[in-house]
Amino acid sequence: MNDESPPAHFPPRSRIAVLTTEPVGVLDYLAPEGGVRQGQLVRVPLGPRRVLGLVWGEGTGDFDPAKLRPAGKALEAEPFQPGFIDFLIRAADYTLTPPPLMLRMATRAPDLDQPPAARRVIVPAGEPPDRMTEARSRVLQVMADHGGASFAPSELAQLAGVGTSVVKGLVAQGTLAEIEAPRDLPYPRLDPSLPGKSLAEDQQAAADSLRGAIREGGYGTTLLRGVTGSGKTEVYLEAVAECLAQGRQALVLLPEIALSAEFLERVEARFGARPGEWHSGITRTERRRLWHMAGRGEVGLVVGARSALFLPFRDLGLIVVDEEHDGSYKQEDVVYYNARDMAVLRASICKAQVVLASATPSLESWVNAGSGKYRRLDLRSRYGEAELPDMTAIDLRAEDMPSGRWISPTLAEAVEARLAQGQQSLLFLNRRGFAPVTVCRACGEQIGCHQCDARMVEHRFQNRLVCHQCGETRVIPTACPSCGVEGKLAPIGPGVERIAEEVAERFPDAKATVLSSDLFHSARALKETIAAIAEGDTDIIIGTQIVAKGHNFPRLTLVGVIDADLGLQGADLRAAERSFQLMRQVAGRAGRQSGQTPGVAMLQTHQPDHAVIRAILSGEDEAFWDAEAAGRQAAGMPPFGRLAGIILSHPDLATVAGFARKLAENAEILREAGAELWGPAPAPIARVRGRQRMRMLIHAPRQAPLQAAIADWLAPHKPPTNLRLAVDIDPQSFL
Ligand code: ADP
Ligand code: ZN
Repeated sequence: MNDESPPAHFPPRSRIAVLTTEPVGVLDYLAPEGGVRQGQLVRVPLGPRRVLGLVWGEGTGDFDPAKLRPAGKALEAEPFQPGFIDFLIRAADYTLTPPPLMLRMATRAPDLDQPPAARRVIVPAGEPPDRMTEARSRVLQVMADHGGASFAPSELAQLAGVGTSVVKGLVAQGTLAEIEAPRDLPYPRLDPSLPGKSLAEDQQAAADSLRGAIREGGYGTTLLRGVTGSGKTEVYLEAVAECLAQGRQALVLLPEIALSAEFLERVEARFGARPGEWHSGITRTERRRLWHMAGRGEVGLVVGARSALFLPFRDLGLIVVDEEHDGSYKQEDVVYYNARDMAVLRASICKAQVVLASATPSLESWVNAGSGKYRRLDLRSRYGEAELPDMTAIDLRAEDMPSGRWISPTLAEAVEARLAQGQQSLLFLNRRGFAPVTVCRACGEQIGCHQCDARMVEHRFQNRLVCHQCGETRVIPTACPSCGVEGKLAPIGPGVERIAEEVAERFPDAKATVLSSDLFHSARALKETIAAIAEGDTDIIIGTQIVAKGHNFPRLTLVGVIDADLGLQGADLRAAERSFQLMRQVAGRAGRQSGQTPGVAMLQTHQPDHAVIRAILSGEDEAFWDAEAAGRQAAGMPPFGRLAGIILSHPDLATVAGFARKLAENAEILREAGAELWGPAPAPIARVRGRQRMRMLIHAPRQAPLQAAIADWLAPHKPPTNLRLAVDIDPQSFL
């Protein structure tokens, strides 16, 4: 398809090809009454059902015209732009995803068939209810939480977890009112002409460079690098301003979007209005509205999680991927894709700019910037006077550590000093729960999951054992499930809850807060806790990696890493890279506020001389990346070579092993393409949710036609019933 010519129009009863969201893919139909355009969405009959489809082009003509069925009238939505369709197809090709699944990702909004007519919604009306019940207050709380959004009555009841009668009762009382409201209203305009902050010299240079690239109007990717607090956000908001001023749309992708209240407020302060939000926490009404407004060009800036990349933007001019190294950009479910890489693909098709922002870029982006494929902009220092934390190692071999204790005397002393000064400390351990292993001291049994080859993790706050693979939970038993002996089960190793227990013993007067994703029932509860911490309402924060992400805790001046060796174990390709990034990010939480004594980060380790620990401490990032890159290059590993994972699973081990063997025995096509096949082997976690898992890994030189070879290789082999086969191009996980 071509950007220049208007999309083709097909008159009624002419022959059209429609890409459906079903496995059959593209089928021919007759154009409906009134005709349709290329790129429009239609409902089409498929057997007894009606399914969603995208008008693809002219029908191919090798099917008896007399048997063709008519498509339904086009949905009232903007047609997809040719560039967007092109993106979906190329993303499907790259990730080896069937196009119907890609179309599903691009149409993930409710009620697409319904026209944008008025609908009945609930709004506040002001009268107090005669009496307040628990259910009523939950309804009012949901309304307050979504500040000003309107809800369908059933949606409101569902979000509040009450029956619709409660909502009706509040309407009868005059507390709420049910009114007719138009749906899918455009978003308020962001004003790019409002002034931003006055920028420091290097910030200004970076902003000017990005603005220039956007004004030129072509494709380009820029790695924007600077430590946490150096003003990357400030700089890319300037790029957003330029993009909006050009009349184009901008997308900012964030990890952990639900936590970004602070970010939304910043946008509002900068541009005078809030952006569109796209993530799992928004209401159905907002989801539908944003999807339509993206297509109509009636939302200027969208802030979203990775799936926002599949919104049908009318004219996308800028994509920012903040914390571009973050693992949450990789989806490993149904469609395996990396939103960072797909952002670059989308931008190259629609002539947009990409900004990859990070303090600790992925090795891929670092190499691409080094080779000139991406531009690179560096922010050298923190804005204002604030300095990077002072980093030191605590050598655990030299500390007096009684068993069952994890906070060394040196670290404890540093925490005491912060307590005395009214400052906050953060103890970081990337392990949820109380203890990762529960062992029977009588028979040696380690309590495992029934469905997975994984040990159950004790979560003492919930009084349960939890499998972190499948989520199965059990009450913590008093007797060993294997030998039956009472009172001999013992927790081994620490999780954050256990550190919290130690903190309570050692610092009985301090207020401690545990931040771990499993301890919060909603994004809102987590947000509230984070806001309270930022205001100083805690002395010691004990957290998993959710604290590593951009929260600003002004009174935090000490970060203690409980086990800096944790991520160094394991043969994962990216173990060093991930450890480096995580430690740096966590350490960066300390002492962000200007004008204070610099923060301190202390890493407890048994291997202070490990190359990665030394790199983290020395602050010589470039040397670390150079060494990492050299190692990967020597081994032909990404980004210097390519990998694809094949994950097979089936309830029965013999079935999955048999099919895997058959694939491996017929892998000549891969070898002809220059690729090697490793495996099959049982996956490191060989059983999950009762399914036996095997993996293969394909390794190829950078220029090899990897996807085409894999497609040709797999095509002739029909998997046995119930066998799942997933292809993971550029895998991040090898479990
Ligand atoms: P990063 O995205 O690199 O972590 P931010 O853009 O969030 O950095 O900046 C860190 C803090 O410093 C923010 O509170 C931001 O508002 C402030 N800041 C950065 N640059 C400036 C500036 N030029 N003028 C005023 N405040 C700034
Ligand atoms: Zn399990």
